[in-house]
Formats: sequence, structure tokens, C-alpha cells
Amino acid sequence: MDNDKFIPFSRPSFTKEELSAVERVLKSGWWSRGKVTEEFEEMFKRYCTADYALALNSCTAALHTGLKLINIGHEDEVITTPMTFCASANVIRHCGAKPVFADIDEETGLIDVENVRNAVTKNTKCIIPVDYAGNVADIDSINEIARSVGAYVLEDAAHSVASTYKGRHVGSLTDMTAFSFYATKNIATGEGGMLTLRDEKFYDYAKMLTLHGMSKNAADRYKNGGSHYYDIVMPGYKYNLTDIAAALGIVQLKRLGNMQAKRKEICNIYDSAFKDSKFISLLKTPDWCENGMHLYVIKLNLDTITISRDAFIKELYNFGIGTSVHFMPINISSYYKEHLGNVSMPKAERFYNRIISLPLYPSLSFSEVEYIAQRVLEVAQSNAR
Ligand SMILES: *Cc1c(COP(=O)(O)O)cnc(C)c1O
Repeated sequence: MDNDKFIPFSRPSFTKEELSAVERVLKSGWWSRGKVTEEFEEMFKRYCTADYALALNSCTAALHTGLKLINIGHEDEVITTPMTFCASANVIRHCGAKPVFADIDEETGLIDVENVRNAVTKNTKCIIPVDYAGNVADIDSINEIARSVGAYVLEDAAHSVASTYKGRHVGSLTDMTAFSFYATKNIATGEGGMLTLRDEKFYDYAKMLTLHGMSKNAADRYKNGGSHYYDIVMPGYKYNLTDIAAALGIVQLKRLGNMQAKRKEICNIYDSAFKDSKFISLLKTPDWCENGMHLYVIKLNLDTITISRDAFIKELYNFGIGTSVHFMPINISSYYKEHLGNVSMPKAERFYNRIISLPLYPSLSFSEVEYIAQRVLEVAQSNAR
């Protein structure tokens, strides 16, 4: 295939609206956190019926902030899934705490609640469930486990901005929820994230913690004397979002319904192409949620083909199709192996060897989607066992 026809795994989608929203901010003279970011927070809060929403510059920042809010430190354990992006575990290490992995359910890719139960110890302070590919974790059960041992739940909702759980939007289901607006996510601002919260004290503390630990109260108090004054209450972080990114976020959130409708049409084409294939299994969506269609993951039935997942990916690449793998289990990465020793997560590891994420984004044309589906079936057929 010609290089200019290569179908990338992901491609951000924007309209004239995004362009003019960004232009307005650029011309306004205020590029950092300001009124536009506040407007984005308000909109987002209403969208997911959260009590509080704080816009940050990544989901990673939101996860780290969440753990800091509940004082996670050296003696603590935080339970999460190995089937996630490294950030979900890295932030636990940033706090000096120990990540404890609970293996997944291979049908849904989600953390398995029984394994969470078995992973709990007296040091468990937090559980980070990850909403895999748009599937929402079994949040009621996870909340209940956490409550029974006095731990918090910090939901990694990087994939689930458009998902619902028992009819409710993700963002109000747990103590703290972290969203991502990274370039490949359903809402994209280049880099960006949101932390939604239930507790006002957490919210106030999070605002300070993510802006250098500067006390705004102090600034207010000295307003008349000298507006330059602020106090440093703690050594905080620089995690705020910019108005430039927030302008993109506002338009993307408005367009989310339309973008999801396009994703749905793409998923339908893939579904009908693959549903009767003996070579491919599809991810299941649990009854309790509506999948927000972040990733379209196929699972190769490796006993029906003679090639590996990696060789399969290479053949698709030669047909001009970019794909990805979500994710390599964190427990087999060199740092975590060294840090935690050899932790075996048999289901996540078996799952990993089978999965391929296909292109899924609003700017894909239907002919591209048909082309991808046909080539996937062709590669499988030509390597049938
Ligand atoms: C993308 C992603 C993150 C990190 O998001 P950033 O906004 O890039 O920090 C965290 N968790 C999961 C599951 C992700 O897919």
C-alpha cells in the first residue's frame, strides 16, 4: 500500500469549532489556567454528575494527585490490574507505596473482583480499578470491598469518558475518578486530564496540591496590601491544565455524542465482520455497563492460526494498517519484575498474547473500516492451521 494511504492506529479529530475556540484563547491574552478551564470543569462536572471536577494536565497527574489526597506512603499497598497503561502503577511507586496486582477476567479485560478480594491485606489503602477499552469495572463490588477495609477507590477512567455504569456516567461512581484527554482518547486536548471528586476538602486540597502548594487564601488575605503575596503551604506539583487545552476540551465534549455515534457505526462494521470468525473472539461487555468504545480489541484464537500475534500485526502493517496492543501486563515489565519479583498474572499474560487493538476513531472512513476488517480476516485465513 502507498505510504500516503497508510491507516494510522489513531488520528485526532477536529472541526472548525476547535480551531476557532483555540484562536479565541490565543487572542484573549490568557493562555494558562483561567476562565476557560473553569468553564470546562463546570461542563464536565455536569456531564458526569460529579460533585467536583479539577482539570489537570494528564490522567497520570490526576491519579498521582488522587493518591496524594489520601496520603498514600511507604507502608501502603494499592491494588490495581496488570492490564493497564504503566501510569496506573507508576503513580503508586511515586508515592513510595507497593502496587499489588489482581489478575483479570479474560472475557472483559477487567480486573476480577475475586482476585481483588484475595489481594486485600491490612496494608491495603486504595484500589485503582481500570475501565478497560470502555468496559467499566465492577464498581459496586469494588466499592464494597474497599469500604469493608477502610480503603479508598480511585477509578482510572482513561478509557471510559463515554461509558455508563448501571445507567450512570463514570465520574460519580467512586471517591475519585481520573480521566485522560491524551491525543488518542475519546476526548482529546493533546495532553490533559480531569480528576472528579466527592469530597469538598479533597477538592480544596487538590487545587492547592496541583498548583505548587500555593495557598490562595493567603493571597486573598493580602489582596489589599500587595497582590504579589502568596504562601507555600506544601511542596506541590505543577499539574494544572491550560485554557488552550480546555478550549479544545469544551468543543470535544460538545461533540462527544456525534463522535461516539461514528465510533458505534465503526464498531458495528467490525462486529458483523468478525462475529462468525473461528479465528477471532471479541471482548465481552458486562451487563452492568455500556461500553464507551475507546478501543476495538480483537482476541486471536491462537490455536486456529499458525502465526503469533506479533506476526499478525506485521502482516496488517504490510497491508498499510496501523494497530496497537493494550496492554503488555505491567508485572512483566523489567522495572516491576525487579521491584516486585516474579509476579505471575496468568490470565493477563495469556490475554496479552492474543490481543490487537484495531483503528477506531471518528475520522476513519467506512471504506477504510471495511478494508481493515477484510484484511484481518484475510491474514487469519491465509495462516489457518
Ligand atoms: C492513557 C492512559 C493513562 C494515562 O493518561 P495520560 O493522560 O496520558 O496521563 C492512564 N491509564 C490508562 C488506562 C490509559 O489508557
